[in-house]
Amino acid sequence: MNAERAAAIRAIANKEPVAFERGTAQVPELFAANVFGPQQMRSRLPEAAYKALHLCMTQGQELGPGLADQVANAMKEWAIERGATHFTHWFQPMTGSTAEKHDSFATLEDGRMLMEFSGKALIKGEPDASSFPSGGLRATFEARGYTAWDPTSPAFLRETTNGPTLCIPTAFCSWTGEALDEKTPLLRSLEAIHREAMKMLRLLGEQKATHVYPTLGCEQEYFLVDRDFYLRRPDLVATGRTLFGAKPPKGQELEDHYFGSIQPRVLAYMQEVEHELWRLGVPVKTRHNEVAPSQYELAPIFERTTVAADHNMLCMEVLKQVAQKHGFHCLLHEKPFAGINGSGKHNNWSIATDTGENLLDPGHTPQANMRFVVFLTAVIRAVDVHADLLRCTIAHAGNDHRLGANEAPPAILSIYLGEQLTDVVDNIVSGTAAKSEKRKDTMRLGVTALPPLPRDATDRNRTSPFAFTGNKFEFRAVGSSQATAKPNVVLNTIVADSLAFLVDQIEAQKGQKGLDAAINEVVIETLRKHRRVLFNGNGYSAEWHAEAAQRGLPNFRSSVDAIGNLCAPKNIAMFEKFGVLTAKEAESRMNIQFEAYCKAISIEGLSCLSIARTMVLPAAQAHQGAVAQSIAAAKACGVEVSGQQKRLLAMSSLIEQLVARIDDLSAQFEQAESHPGTPAEHARAYRDKVATSMVKVRETSDHLETMVDDSLWPLPKYREMLFLQ
Ligand code: ADP
Ligand code: MG
Repeated sequence: MNAERAAAIRAIANKEPVAFERGTAQVPELFAANVFGPQQMRSRLPEAAYKALHLCMTQGQELGPGLADQVANAMKEWAIERGATHFTHWFQPMTGSTAEKHDSFATLEDGRMLMEFSGKALIKGEPDASSFPSGGLRATFEARGYTAWDPTSPAFLRETTNGPTLCIPTAFCSWTGEALDEKTPLLRSLEAIHREAMKMLRLLGEQKATHVYPTLGCEQEYFLVDRDFYLRRPDLVATGRTLFGAKPPKGQELEDHYFGSIQPRVLAYMQEVEHELWRLGVPVKTRHNEVAPSQYELAPIFERTTVAADHNMLCMEVLKQVAQKHGFHCLLHEKPFAGINGSGKHNNWSIATDTGENLLDPGHTPQANMRFVVFLTAVIRAVDVHADLLRCTIAHAGNDHRLGANEAPPAILSIYLGEQLTDVVDNIVSGTAAKSEKRKDTMRLGVTALPPLPRDATDRNRTSPFAFTGNKFEFRAVGSSQATAKPNVVLNTIVADSLAFLVDQIEAQKGQKGLDAAINEVVIETLRKHRRVLFNGNGYSAEWHAEAAQRGLPNFRSSVDAIGNLCAPKNIAMFEKFGVLTAKEAESRMNIQFEAYCKAISIEGLSCLSIARTMVLPAAQAHQGAVAQSIAAAKACGVEVSGQQKRLLAMSSLIEQLVARIDDLSAQFEQAESHPGTPAEHARAYRDKVATSMVKVRETSDHLETMVDDSLWPLPKYREMLFLQ
C-alpha cells in the first residue's frame, strides 16, 4: 500500500477515545455556565436595570445609554473574573460563517493599565467592513461598517486553551445603515411576523398575548473523517468534499449504520462537543449515527429564532474545533462523498406567543382549532406563493449535490401534511364529508372541532422538503453547512405576508357577513387556491415531477436557476413592504449568492486540476510504466502476454482520456473565468463549463483508481475514510 496511506491507517489503529476535563458539575449546573444570562444579570444588576434589560431582550425594546453602561460594566466584571482579557463583537457577515475582531478591555491612565468596558463599546463596534462581501452595497471609499449589540441573544465566553474571550452577538451594518450581515434581516423579519401575527390574534379574539415569536430547532448532520486521512486529501481541505474517489465495495447498502451503536472514539468526541455546548447554553439533546457510514446527527431543544440561529453557528464551530482534538475532521459539506447520503439541516420552525402557546398546535377546542387552521392556511399560502423565494434560500453549490438526488428532498417545494390533516383541508375546501372520518357535516371553523390528529402519524414522509410534524413545520431542504438565518428570514417574512393578506381579507368581509363567516370563507377561498402545493406522496418519484409541473409548481433544478428569484419584483415588493430588505439590499445579496457559487466552483475546479495533474496522472503513469516494463521483460523470455497487453492498452487509453479531460477542464475553466456578463451569467458559465467538466475528470480518475497498483495510489480511498475510525 502507498506509504502515506499506510502510515495514516497505522496511526488510526493506535488512537484511543480522547478523555476531557469533565469537572464534577452536573449538567444543570454547568448548563450556560459560560453565558451572561438572566441569572448573572439578576445577581449583578440593580433590580430596575435588570427589568429594563429583560424587556430589551424579550420584547426587542431599545437599550438606553445609561442602562448600556451598567450592563457593560456587569458583563466585564463577570468576564474578567473568569479570566477574560478581551471582548469581541461576534457577527455573521454574508460569508456563511461568523466573524470576530478582538479588543482588550485595557485603557491607559497615567501609565497604569485599567480594564474598562463602556456601554458605548458594548452597543457599537466599528470593524472595517471593506473585506466582507457587500455585493456592491458599500462603495470602496466608504469602507466603515459598524456592529450593534443584539440584546435578544446573550453574550457568552468562548473558552480556548489559554483563556476565554467575551463574545457579544451583534448585527453588522454599513455606515449608511444597510445590512451587511445575516442577523439584521433576521431581526427585521421577527418584527414583521410578530406584528402581523398579533393583528391576526387580535382579530381572532385573543387578548392576552402581547408578543409573538418564531421558534427554531436545527437538526445538524455531519461527517467525521480521521484527521490523518483528511490531511492527505487536498480536495477535502480546499473544498470540504471529495472530488475523486471510486465507489467502495461496501457503502450504506447494509443499512447498518443508522442508529447503530456509536463507535467509542466518536462517542468520546460527541460527549465533549455536548459538554462544551451545554456550557455555552446550547441545549443539545440528541445524538445518533445517521444513514451513511461516518455520518452523524446532533439536535438541540428548540429556542427563539435569534438565539437558535446563533446557537447553530456555535454548534458548527464547536463540532469543528473539538474534532481536531479527537483526531477527526468534521465535514459540514452537503455532499462530502459521492454515492452515499449527503447532510442536511432540518429547520424545525413554529410560532409561539409570550403566553406559551404554539400557534401551530392543533389544540383541542373549536376555538383553538380555528386559530390553528388560520395559521396553517397562512403557511400553505406562503409556501405556494413564495416557493421560488424559499428555493432561493437553500441555493448554493454544496446543496446542488443533494436536492433532487433521490436521498434528499426534491427541489420542488411542496408541503406534506399527512393524511388526516390533508383530509381536514379537503373537507374545509369542499365541504364534503372527510374520507377517513365519514363525517356528514361540513367543517365549520370556530364551531366544529377537528378530529384528533395523532402526532406520530405526521412524520413518516422523508421525501418531502417541507413537512408538518405535529405542531411545527420541518424545512428539510436546508443544507448542513448553511447559516440558518437566510431560510428563516424568508419563512418569517412570507408567513407575515400571508397573515397580513388574510387579515385584510377578513377585515374587508366581516362587516357584511360577521366575523366567523368571514374567517370561514377567507380560509376556504385561500386553501382552495393554494391546495396544489400539498403533496403526501413520494417526492423522489418521476411521476411527482410530472404532476408538479402540471400543477404549475416551479422546479428550479440548480442553484444558478434559483438565486435570481430573490429579486423577482413580487419578492422585492414584499421585502420592502415588511421592512426586511430594501431593493438595494436584496440585489446585493443576490450578487453575493451568485459570487459565492462562482467561487465555490472555481476552487473546486482548480483543486480538481491540481490533484488530477500532480497526483492521479503521475500514479497512473508510474503504474503504466511498471506494467509495460514487466510485459516487455516477460515477452523477452518468450512468455504469452496477450491478456496483459490488452489490459495495458485499456489502461493507457484511460490515461489518454484523463489527459484530454484535464486539458478540457483547464480550457473550460479559463472560459468561465473570463466570461463576460452579469453575476448570473458568470455563475451559469461556471456551472455549465467547469462543474460538468470536473465530473468527467473524476469519472476517468475513479476508473483508474480501480486499476492502478494500490501502493501507488496517493489519495486515501473511500473504503478507508468511511470505515476506519
Ligand atoms: P425528528 O424530526 O428527528 O423526529 P424531533 O421530532 O424530536 O426529531 O424534533 C426535531 C427538532 O424539532 C428538535 O430540535 C426539536 O427541539 C424541534 N422542535 C420541536 N418542537 C418545536 C417547535 N415548536 N418549534 C421549533 N422546533 C421544534
Ligand atoms: Mg426531523
